Amino acid sequence: MPDDMVEAHRNGIHNAMAAGWHVLSRGGSALDAVEESIVVLEDDETFDAGRGSFLNRDGKVQLDAFIMDGATLRGGGVGCVERLRNPVRTARKILSESPHVYFVGEGAERFAAEHKVPLIDNRELVIPREVERLRDFQARPADEQADLFAPAISHDTVGAVALDCNGNIAASTSTGGTLNKAPGRLGDSSLIGCGCYADNQSAAASTTGWGEPIMKLVLAKWAVDRVAAGNLPEWAAKEAINYLKQRLNGHGGIIILDTQGRVGIAHNTPRMAWGLRTTDGEEAGTERR
Ligand code: ASP
Repeated sequence: MPDDMVEAHRNGIHNAMAAGWHVLSRGGSALDAVEESIVVLEDDETFDAGRGSFLNRDGKVQLDAFIMDGATLRGGGVGCVERLRNPVRTARKILSESPHVYFVGEGAERFAAEHKVPLIDNRELVIPREVERLRDFQARPADEQADLFAPAISHDTVGAVALDCNGNIAASTSTGGTLNKAPGRLGDSSLIGCGCYADNQSAAASTTGWGEPIMKLVLAKWAVDRVAAGNLPEWAAKEAINYLKQRLNGHGGIIILDTQGRVGIAHNTPRMAWGLRTTDGEEAGTERR
């Protein structure tokens, strides 16, 4: 994240943890907690999720989101939606009210409308900062645009994992994807096992970063499988990011939580905003943990 955005990220993370903790401290489910945390982050223009997301090549916001319940392995995902203010809300409805796991594009919006989620105009998701960012990016020479490590290509996808008082875990990830992406491009974030996964028998994980390498490695599932094999989430998180770098020269970050409340947070980007809320209080940061 750019230097001038650090404080905004810290605030956003704090607010998201408060929303999740509000659910958990009253005996609510991990699934509800991650949903409420993600809604806060989608509503916060700081992040690349919901309103304020990066724009695609056509100047539109196109959103992907996924939510998964570690107790039942039920999941709900939406991809390439343009008319949902909070894509995680529809993802949750898919998880809870549909026999399917994914709806994309117009079909997802139709599902949302049929389940009483209001559809909005895409322009309500677009903010001037992002119009300017896209304009600057598109004015660059083609070789600079192809440099996926350029500072303009920050990754601001949001993710949450939670453990509730019944010992269940859940995960969710939501994104506007990458800046200047081709319309219809689906990233890793909403793909099960890539940008998000949860299973009570292993762990809950959410990733951010350059989506194509992450999805090729099915990275979230790769990481939770290491936890199922007896490794600590902290080790699995670091190993996942090492694997991403070594295997495909990818970059990004991951958060992992198991049913014993053990946490892993790792990234190979210069910064990643993260936060942890437990009965002992709150911890947060933007550098490596
Ligand atoms: N992983 C996301 C994507 O490729 C981008 C991000 O994490 O910011 O769509």
